[in-house]
Amino acid sequence: MLLLPKGLSKGEKEIGNAMCSVDASVGVSPTSHPQLTSLLETLSDTLIFLDPSATIYYASTRAAAMLGTSKQKLQGGTLWQGAPHLVGTALYQAVTTAIHTQESLAITYRCPITQNWLRVRLLPTHGGVLLFFQKGKEPVRLSDALPQSEQRYRSLLESFTDGIVILTPEGLIIDINQHPLVVAQVSREEVIGRPMVDFPTWKSAPVAQKQLRAAIARASGGETVHFEVRLYPQAEHYRDLALVIIPHHADNQRIEYLTCVGLEVTERKQAEEEWRVLLDVLPHFVWVMRPDGSPSYQNRRWRDYTTVAVEDDQGIDGWSHWIHPDDRQRVLETWQAAVQSGNPYEVQHRLLEGETGTYRWYLTRGVPRKDQQGVIWQWVRTCTNVDELKEVETALYQSRERMRTLMDSNIIGIFISRDDEIIEANNTFLRMTGYSQEDLRQGNMDWFRMTHPDSFTRTQQAQQELTQHQTLLPYEKEYVCKDGSRLPVLVCAVAFPFDPSQNICFVLDNSARKELELRKENFLSMASHELKTPLTAIKMRLQLARVRLLKQGLGEAATMLSRAEEPVHLLDRLIGELLDVSKLQAGKLDYLYEPVDMEALVYEIAETTQLMSTTHTIVVHGSAPGTVIGDKGRLEQVFINLISNAIAYSPDANTVDIDLHATSEAVTVSVRDYGIGIPQGQREKIFERFYRAFDLSQRAVPGLGMGLTIAQEIVTQHGGTITVQSEEGKGSTFQVTLPLERPTS
Ligand code: ADP
Repeated sequence: MLLLPKGLSKGEKEIGNAMCSVDASVGVSPTSHPQLTSLLETLSDTLIFLDPSATIYYASTRAAAMLGTSKQKLQGGTLWQGAPHLVGTALYQAVTTAIHTQESLAITYRCPITQNWLRVRLLPTHGGVLLFFQKGKEPVRLSDALPQSEQRYRSLLESFTDGIVILTPEGLIIDINQHPLVVAQVSREEVIGRPMVDFPTWKSAPVAQKQLRAAIARASGGETVHFEVRLYPQAEHYRDLALVIIPHHADNQRIEYLTCVGLEVTERKQAEEEWRVLLDVLPHFVWVMRPDGSPSYQNRRWRDYTTVAVEDDQGIDGWSHWIHPDDRQRVLETWQAAVQSGNPYEVQHRLLEGETGTYRWYLTRGVPRKDQQGVIWQWVRTCTNVDELKEVETALYQSRERMRTLMDSNIIGIFISRDDEIIEANNTFLRMTGYSQEDLRQGNMDWFRMTHPDSFTRTQQAQQELTQHQTLLPYEKEYVCKDGSRLPVLVCAVAFPFDPSQNICFVLDNSARKELELRKENFLSMASHELKTPLTAIKMRLQLARVRLLKQGLGEAATMLSRAEEPVHLLDRLIGELLDVSKLQAGKLDYLYEPVDMEALVYEIAETTQLMSTTHTIVVHGSAPGTVIGDKGRLEQVFINLISNAIAYSPDANTVDIDLHATSEAVTVSVRDYGIGIPQGQREKIFERFYRAFDLSQRAVPGLGMGLTIAQEIVTQHGGTITVQSEEGKGSTFQVTLPLERPTS
């Protein structure tokens, strides 16, 4: 039994009852009952009968007259198509509700086209609904909530400067505000009840039409759909619209109608296009994404890099296809965590280059853009190539590893010092010196304090060298180990360019070599001793034999014997030098100090050496009055050596000049020859032990390279200096300066 709403007019009640009887027989409509039809036609009301799909089954003559059409034309179409004059959101809502709930209701609304107030009563009939239209009055009472809300709805609709369209789930326009009508230059009557895709501005844009159709279909399925389209209202001009279609649900989740809101974004789009040109030239990849991660924009760089067209990877995680498989999981997890927290994120990973098929390292950064309520409405993601940085990182890692390998090697001791403190040392150095990592941590290792006092002077020199040149060539020194023992080492170092107070030192244990050297010195000393004794005996016997031969009047035999004395003399000199060198090495060269008249000494030596030379004339020039406190024998040794060398290394000359010169402070003796000279690079080295300047012409000159070492040692011990000036092929001058004894006042 149909429940009729209260307050029905007499006529309405009659019809209601008649319809109830019709309801009883399924499939019966007013048109199939001539009696009923005539009854309906007698009524003064405007009457429309709809079936469950809102299709007009029957419209009374008055209804046809009100709509300015014939009854036949109305019949068979939907109410929205047949009676657009009557359509308004409130009516649409009421019809769908009444059909669905099969409950009677009544509304008063203002027809959006005629602007007349209409009162409509809706009577459900067997799945369909019967509509009675009456002219209504504008509601004045505040308690009349429905008309008031209708009014509010309309003014809201019209206050919106862009377009709003209310659609049936099928996409037919049931209401629209002024703006789109003005743009398209059409009247409301022309579009109400028509599909939105046929709206004039859309008709000329097939691509947009396609997008709209798809969006309506999705929205009818319950989805809120955002999309952007380009329309061409006039041939030359276009308008960009950002649209959203929102489905509205009735209480039972059924979709009642759709609201389509369109915003004109032409200017924003133009600005965006300018930005895109800029973004396209950037060396970075840029994405703009919707909150769900689906890209709304990707710059050209990215498309060029992947060689994939934009539409091919539009999906939410479409770009992850290009991430290296080993990195993909990590990257997606980072992104998902960022979406959940709403925080910016950063992640490094490899991306596949489409053309070469190789992976490159990128730093991806994502930043959310939020509205005033803190809701994310966009993500901006950039990718920066960090391949070179990665290469540097790898190189750094490798160099660290190399450094570690070096440090860990047990061949050489290595430590890093800051000023005097050792701040890092490898195990080899610790083992060599007997210290532990703990000593190191506690700052107990000070390399200068660990230096043996005997090496202080040399170490200070080395320090200066390092400060000056940032590198220190290997030199010998001794450390004192933790247990107090001495450790001979060979040390070299480099200062760090970033902080010259920090050095890295390489330390080689030199004790084995030192031990060997010591044994060699001992051997030399012992051998020269052992040789010296029989040689002295031979020398004495030769002298004795020569004297006896002379006495016996055998002069010729005595002369021959004296020739044999020459090599013996040379041998004696060499053995003497060997002995001196080993003594010198052991610091045992002893001196007997006395006042020495240098001028007299030099004349004496010149005379003696002249006796031995048949090839050269030795000439002494100048004078040098004054006394030197020294060991006469040793000083003699110095000048004999210099004069012997001058003769020996000037085979083609015949003079050796000796110059004497004195100041109040010192006496200087210069020995000049006109011989082969000494090459530039070797002048410093000739004073080193066993060093002989390399020259084939001197190979014939016997010698061991020890004479000048001993001479320098003797002169230094006397507080003097010995220097050399030389020119290859022209000769050399050795100059010895010795301090004079200060007169006691
Ligand atoms: P020795 O003469 O026994 O080789 P020295 O120590 O006296 O040793 O001299 C070292 C080296 O210095 C010599 O081998 C020689 O090459 C060079 N030298 C020394 N004096 C002279 C000189 N007057 N002229 C050229 N070379 C010299």
